[in-house]
Amino acid sequence: KRLSVAIDGPAGAGKSTVARQVAKRLGLTYVDTGAMYRAITWKALRHRLDLTDESGVIHLARHTDLRLSTDQKGVGVWVDGEDVTEAIRTPEVTSNVSVIAGQGMVREVLVEKQREMAEQGGVVMDGRDIGTHVLPDADVKVFLTASIDERAQRRYQELMRRGYPVDLDRLKEEISQRDEKDKSREHSPLRPAKDAIHVDTTGLTIEEVIQAILDLCRT
Ligand code: C5P
Repeated sequence: KRLSVAIDGPAGAGKSTVARQVAKRLGLTYVDTGAMYRAITWKALRHRLDLTDESGVIHLARHTDLRLSTDQKGVGVWVDGEDVTEAIRTPEVTSNVSVIAGQGMVREVLVEKQREMAEQGGVVMDGRDIGTHVLPDADVKVFLTASIDERAQRRYQELMRRGYPVDLDRLKEEISQRDEKDKSREHSPLRPAKDAIHVDTTGLTIEEVIQAILDLCRT
């Protein structure tokens, strides 16, 4: 059996950067589950769907050909054959994704896809409910955190790089609100699994965090 690694934590803790590198170095598949919630949100916005219409969103999710790929440049996301890699990172998608992520049946559709991806072999999967719900038997479970200031700073840099100038204080507020929604929702809220190892990345470099997780994978 090949290794499965679950990495959960709040927004901006560095999950995707770190998870992608860990997967690469261990020769495992990387699955960014946040990208899947974003992809469905993007498509629902594109179709001008009422995002609170759960049955409409479920129908849409069931009829979406959602593909993830990873190469040297990063993670690619395709919805029905269209490259949405950049489109799913806009502030519009980010501010609407919690609505869709709060819908239990929509989550079930995506969780089923996530488990299928994990069955194909070794995997590093990041999200909010991987250790608690998607892969409860994962070999290694990590809960990544960082101070709110550090997380806001990281997202700020990332958004600036992508060409979305934002106000740091507003960003901090938005991240706190998104975390609050992720923690307080009814279905699979953001929470560390009982057997998760907590890693506080405040003040650590990306490489240090990667090494800490690789160490956990070797023991
Ligand atoms: O990880 P990322 O910030 O891209 O995730 C976007 C949103 O998708 C999160 O704020 C959360 O609402 C939702 N999500 C989730 N469960 C996951 C991954 C992401 O609810 N496993």
